[in-house]
Amino acid sequence: MSEHQHDHGAGEESQGHPGGTPDIQLSYRAKRSLAMQELLVEKGIIAPDDIQRSVESARARSPSDGARVVARAWVDPAFKQRLLDNALTAIAELGYDFVADTGLVALENTDELHHVVVCTLCSCYPGALLGPPPDWYKSLAYRSRVVIEPRAVLREFGLELESDIGVRVIDSTAEIRYLVLPGRPAGTEGMAEEQLAELVTRNSMIGVGLPLSPELVTT
Ligand code: FE
Repeated sequence: MSEHQHDHGAGEESQGHPGGTPDIQLSYRAKRSLAMQELLVEKGIIAPDDIQRSVESARARSPSDGARVVARAWVDPAFKQRLLDNALTAIAELGYDFVADTGLVALENTDELHHVVVCTLCSCYPGALLGPPPDWYKSLAYRSRVVIEPRAVLREFGLELESDIGVRVIDSTAEIRYLVLPGRPAGTEGMAEEQLAELVTRNSMIGVGLPLSPELVTT
């Protein structure tokens, strides 16, 4: 593959000029990513700062943001219904917004059906709600194996599901991200919303784990 050629003014005239000498060697992937960004901007598909803004918004979030949404759904059945009907407008009630034109769907885990989320193609993830994805989520091993042998992969995460619970693996896309709404743990009746949020782990919102038991967090 040829080096991408652009007129950045980094030609011969900048040699010997301290500011014009690149001091970082970009990897092949970094160069490819930059070239794609430049093309998308050039073709008017994205604005120059779109990618930076979306990275920053994901970095500003953490799984505790998703946990707030889940805890609200556990205590407020009407909110839960709105979340399942239209996740984007429901999370907006709590002050969260997604990057324009990215959809969000909430998937409810029940006694009969367990959802697990993956992006088989790359690493699509509801970053605007959970923060940056964990490394294993981006790994080829997870992306390829979870669709073939989900129960074996879940077991490696320490999640052994009863055989009568169905497992549904959901493949994310650039257009739609998924948030798993785990079931509310037993023994949490009467707990306040903020305490409940502490039980909601990142992995339980991806579907590779369950929320914590209340005994584990009561202090
Ligand atoms: Fe992806």
